[in-house]
Amino acid sequence: MNQTLFTVGPVEMYPETLRLGGVQLPYFRTEEFSRSVLSCEAAMQALVGAPAGARTVFLTASGTGAMEAAMINLLGEDDRALVISGGSFGQRFCEICEDDQVPYDAVRLQPGKSPEPAAYAESVLRNYSALAVNAHETSTGLLYDLRSMGLACRKAGVLFIVDAISAFLCDEVNMEEMGIDVLITSSQKALALPPGLSIMVLSPRAVQVAAARKVRSHYFGLAKYLKDGARGQTPFTPAVGVILQLKERLGAVANKGAAASIARAADLAAGFRASIAGLPLSIFPDRASNALTALSPTTDIGAYEIYSRLRAERGLVVTPNGGELRDRVFRVGHMGNLESSDLSRLASALEEILR
Ligand SMILES: *Cc1c(COP(=O)(O)O)cnc(C)c1O
Repeated sequence: MNQTLFTVGPVEMYPETLRLGGVQLPYFRTEEFSRSVLSCEAAMQALVGAPAGARTVFLTASGTGAMEAAMINLLGEDDRALVISGGSFGQRFCEICEDDQVPYDAVRLQPGKSPEPAAYAESVLRNYSALAVNAHETSTGLLYDLRSMGLACRKAGVLFIVDAISAFLCDEVNMEEMGIDVLITSSQKALALPPGLSIMVLSPRAVQVAAARKVRSHYFGLAKYLKDGARGQTPFTPAVGVILQLKERLGAVANKGAAASIARAADLAAGFRASIAGLPLSIFPDRASNALTALSPTTDIGAYEIYSRLRAERGLVVTPNGGELRDRVFRVGHMGNLESSDLSRLASALEEILR
């Protein structure tokens, strides 16, 4: 059976990405490859509204690698991070801090519930060196208010670290307007590329901190990446093929602008939510991202069973939840090469299963 992915990564890929996945890779210590990397850097920075003097690091690692790199390069043992933890990706920031011995405190939220602004007020942040948050907590579909967090960080003079892995190209994320110092994304979400490449955009202040820090990690020490990146190279063999696919994809996105990608995700999300409005499903988070719709069944059927039946009976692959949300929540992705007709098919299947 043909499958359609409404997942959170890998997602449905674009034809040109698939074509590029089938060609011989070039040797990469060349002027030509350096130019490709530098063009990806320029395109990324334009798409996220990076301030002048920002720099981009391309890490060959899944998104978690970039989250870890951000924490260990921006914070030392004399610093302290405040982590907003509203689900498994917020929890991941906490676990990174524990494993790497980065001092931290966490604001722990009920799943799907936004934090009170008082939790990250200027007066609170003054006790910390950085605030770390996932722009969109992908496990619950919750979109945080980055603008108000960034404003508080700016007032308190602390670094603002944003994992925008699943928000990039789906929700508005603008470094300059939102006061973001480190913006992280990765290849397998809305970019719809193979997994394996993570991208970090650093503000001039973050560059300064990272370039000066002696990190207890060889592979993830960003100073080397910043130095070699100035001429479009990486210290170690990068995911050469994914970078070339990224260059093509960023070109396609830049042609229309980031706002067009976000508007498209917003349209898909709004259309899908309207089409299931009559079904016994409620939208789980109190402030939903455009990247996906997290749904809770309001009848007897469990969320995991809905996922299993859609996949087995129809080849429609939504994203199940694990842990305590397994039977309460499933997620419908709106990222990648999906059309509104794909989401209509899914809405009809849901109607038949829930009828
Ligand atoms: C997908 C995702 C990640 C990265 O997970 P990896 O499996 O390491 O690629 C991190 N944060 C968020 C919010 C995500 O959605």
